[in-house]
This record gives sequence, C-alpha cells and structure tokens, in this order.
Amino acid sequence: MKIIDILNQDKITLSFEVFPPKLTKNYDDVAFKAKEIAKLHPDFMSVTYGAGGGTSEYTLNIAKEIKEKENVEVMAHLTCVSSSKEHVHNMIHRLKENHIENIMALRGDIPSGGSKFHDYQHASELIKEIKASGDFCIGAACYPEGHPEAGNKDTDIKNLKKKVDAGADFLTTQMFFDNNVFYNFLFRAREAGIDVPIVAGIMPITRGLQVKRARELSNCSMPQRFISMVDKFGDNDEAMKQAGIIYASEQIIDLIASGIKHIHVYSMNKPDVACAIMHNVSEIIR
Ligand code: FAD
Repeated sequence: MKIIDILNQDKITLSFEVFPPKLTKNYDDVAFKAKEIAKLHPDFMSVTYGAGGGTSEYTLNIAKEIKEKENVEVMAHLTCVSSSKEHVHNMIHRLKENHIENIMALRGDIPSGGSKFHDYQHASELIKEIKASGDFCIGAACYPEGHPEAGNKDTDIKNLKKKVDAGADFLTTQMFFDNNVFYNFLFRAREAGIDVPIVAGIMPITRGLQVKRARELSNCSMPQRFISMVDKFGDNDEAMKQAGIIYASEQIIDLIASGIKHIHVYSMNKPDVACAIMHNVSEIIR
C-alpha cells in the first residue's frame, strides 16, 4: 500500500523508523529489533539508508522483512549524492522488483572532502527519476529550523517547494524538541503553497550523549526544560531513558491536541522505547 493513501485516510498515524546495520554480523540483531517494533502495529515503518550506499542491501532486506513477515507497510530510504546514477537506478529497480512501493528520496549529507560522484546535486533530481521509474509513493525530508546549508529559512522553504513540485507526495520533518518550531514551520510551508501531508518527526532522547549527536545532525534548538532534563538525568541511563520517553510522549500529545495528524518516531532500533511511546499515547491516537 502507498503511504500517501494511509496519510490521506481521516485518522491519526504513528510510524516508526529503524536504521540498517553497518556490518553483516549485526544484521540478525537489527532485523529482530525492527520486527519487534513492527509487532506494535504502527501505521508504517521506514528504514534509513547508510550514507554512501554501502549498506543498501540491508535497507532493502530489513524493509522486506517488516513488510512480508510482519505485514506492516514500509518505506525504504534512498540517498543519491554519494552514488553514481547507475547505482541509484539499480537500487530503484531492486526496490521495484521486491514490491517496495514507498521511497524516501534524499540527497544525503555531502561527505567531508566532497563527493566523488557528481551525478546528483539535490533530492529533487532523485525525486524526478523515481517518479519516471515506476508507480512509487515518494517521501522527502524537510527541516523546521532550516537545512544547515540553506542560507536562511525562506530559501529553504522555496527549495522545499521544488521537491514537492518535482513529485514528493509527502514530507517528514527533521527532529525538533520545541513544538512551536514545528507550528511556525507548518505555517510558513502552507503559506508557500506546500500542500502535501507533513509528518512530524519526533526523536526520543534516551541517552545524554545522543543530545550532542542530535545537535550535530539537525542544528536544532533546545528549549530550557529540555536542557534541564538532560543536565539533570543525562548521566543516569535509566532516568534519562524514562525522562526522554515522557518528553517525546508529551510532544506527541501536544501535537495531536493541536490538530497534527501524522507522527513519525525515530525509534533508533529500540523496541522498548517504541513500545513505551505506543503505550503512552495508545488512547490518544485512536
Ligand atoms: P535536498 O533537498 O537536496 O536539500 C539539501 C540542501 O540543498 C538544502 O539546503 C536545500 O535548501 C538546498 N536545495 C534543495 N533543492 C535545491 C535546489 N533545487 N536548488 C538549490 N538548492 C536546493 N541521510 C541519510 O544518509 N540516510 C537517510 O536515510 C536519511 N534519512 C533522512 C530522513 C529525514 C526525515 C530527514 C529529515 C533527513 C534524513 N537524512 C538521511 C539526512 C539528509 O540526507 C541530510 O539532511 C542531507 O544533508 C539533505 O538531504 P535532502 O534530501 O533534504 O537534500
């Protein structure tokens, strides 16, 4: 089933994201965790794509296991900036022959020192190619605080519109820890004529160290109550996990109370975290 058809149903959706292993020896463990998360019956799941494409077969295989063994609809991510056109086209073909109908089309981060491939500059080029390659539902990324490379938020929104015009069926946001950032972004996106569904990406922070990584990845602003939480509990793994799950759950409750319908949780291959969040909001998303 196409994810856009799930999003267009008149209901609240909760979806989870997992990432593929870097090494073959970890494949079974990651696949097991992905299937444990799938057993929670989210509306769909997504499987990220390792930068550079070296783990692309794991993305495909985990996506297949989620879909075929757990009967949960799935979206495979695909990046292009560090790959040749040939590799990207081969991957699109592999997804098609394995009946994966949903692709999250991404440029990917430019590796330090630059990419050795120059076939793609932006995700919009990949979106057009996927669109021309078959009947896929295409997701794309968006950045409530602006993508770090965009000069300013207005330019980033104009570039986002290009991705939608190229054929993105829906957008998923980068993580944010302040819902007001998301509400402001949503307003600006709608004002710019971006009318596709926008799925709010929520990252439960369960370890103090994760905050540093989240900041590097997303440049996201952190409200004082979030910083206080990490300062207080960041060195105590169990307390940080509990606090992070509650913080993410509260973000989701506020989003849904404010009329937002689609939530994607960056569950980071952690079934216990996904399960706790599902439990906390189970009545709210009904
Ligand atoms: P683009 O849309 O190409 O944007 C990149 C920059 O170029 C932005 O500054 C934008 O404003 C600008 N731009 C875009 N189009 C144009 C244009 N036509 N003309 C001029 N400027 C333009 N990374 C992975 O490696 N694997 C993953 O699985 C993965 N999944 C992700 C999922 C989500 C929901 C998000 C938010 C990010 C994900 N990323 C992933 C990270 C992503 O690859 C990086 O953020 C990357 O730097 C940008 O990718 P993009 O697809 O947004 O690029």
